[in-house]
Amino acid sequence: MEKNNLMNTYGRFDVIFEKGIGTKIYDTNGVEYLDFVSGVAVNCLGHSHPIMVKALSEQSKKIIHVSNYYWNTEHIKLSEKLIEHCDHNKVFFCNSGTEAIEGALKLARKYGKSQNTNKDIILYMDNSFHGRTMGALSVTGQEKYQQDFLPLIPRVKKINFNDIEDLYENFTNEVCGIIIEPIQGEGGINAASTEYLKEARKLCDKFNALLIFDEIQCGMGRIGNLFAYKQFDVIPDVIPIAKALGGGFPIGAVIANEKAAKAFVPGDHGSTFGGNPLGCAVALAVITELTDGGVINSVQEKGSYLKEKLNGLKNKYSLIDEVKGMGLLLGISINTSPKEFTNLCFRKGLLVVTAGTDVIRLLPPLNVTVEEIDTAVKILEEAIKELS
Ligand SMILES: *Cc1c(COP(=O)(O)O)cnc(C)c1O
Repeated sequence: MEKNNLMNTYGRFDVIFEKGIGTKIYDTNGVEYLDFVSGVAVNCLGHSHPIMVKALSEQSKKIIHVSNYYWNTEHIKLSEKLIEHCDHNKVFFCNSGTEAIEGALKLARKYGKSQNTNKDIILYMDNSFHGRTMGALSVTGQEKYQQDFLPLIPRVKKINFNDIEDLYENFTNEVCGIIIEPIQGEGGINAASTEYLKEARKLCDKFNALLIFDEIQCGMGRIGNLFAYKQFDVIPDVIPIAKALGGGFPIGAVIANEKAAKAFVPGDHGSTFGGNPLGCAVALAVITELTDGGVINSVQEKGSYLKEKLNGLKNKYSLIDEVKGMGLLLGISINTSPKEFTNLCFRKGLLVVTAGTDVIRLLPPLNVTVEEIDTAVKILEEAIKELS
């Protein structure tokens, strides 16, 4: 029925998941799996967290949706909570990652054009991933995603990730913004160097362009801070977030400083569903649990623990080339088929996802337990042994 009814856009595992509790997820036959995918860095509190269930149920009894023609309390409360944890003071709400990117790109264009009509070039990184809509796709540095959808938006330029020389070569007064994932997720868990990000900051200041950090995957606690940039000692102007923001409920946001945000005036941007009370109430509950609830406090420690175990496997088996990433955004690059590897893990009861061409990505919920990490490592080792 799926083949008949649904557009053919995904390769799927042969399974239907029926329920989940925490890091554990169950298929329709009752088989249990450990979920180290978390809906690709979405289920930061695991499955069916009582705090989310409560927020969904309570808010839905009050008001679910109201147009942006009217005030609502929930989006103000959520914006307050987000602003508390960053150096920025303005938020625009949307519903997904790619929409947050669109908002950021539009903001950069408007910011540039208000200085000079030619100031509209957006620089982006080789191997990046920013989403599937035409604007986000235009700054996604992977040919496989772009090639069948040309022409994309003009005045965007791909540069080499972490290459300071290339950055200087392409940064001119016509650049209005540059978009970088502090850690490339989909592209293979590649961290930007602090030095590179500092140079990008310097050039943005010099040419009065906006520095955009896509924290859709690496933000919201995934690497140990609610905002990933805090680990890099560089403050961006604009931060698109989504994925874990709603813990599984679709919501995205563009965070910006005053300087950038004031480029938008009424009518410049909008979203029918953006900032709806239900999404904001759930996200507020999620963020409050991540921060005040202390979930984020243990991310570094658990991440280091898992990374250490993975390095142990690397020292033991030549199948692993490298262990990459920070916090609970980790990857192992392997010299065998990643597809085969994830399939084998799946059959053994562990969900993992590929990234780039040769990386297995590990994205457990942020409240994963040490015992669950141990079990996952055991399954990974069995899979490695079988494929070695
Ligand atoms: C997932 C992702 C996006 C796109 O988010 P969607 O909600 O799928 O549109 C953009 N940027 C990064 C870094 C992502 O990981």
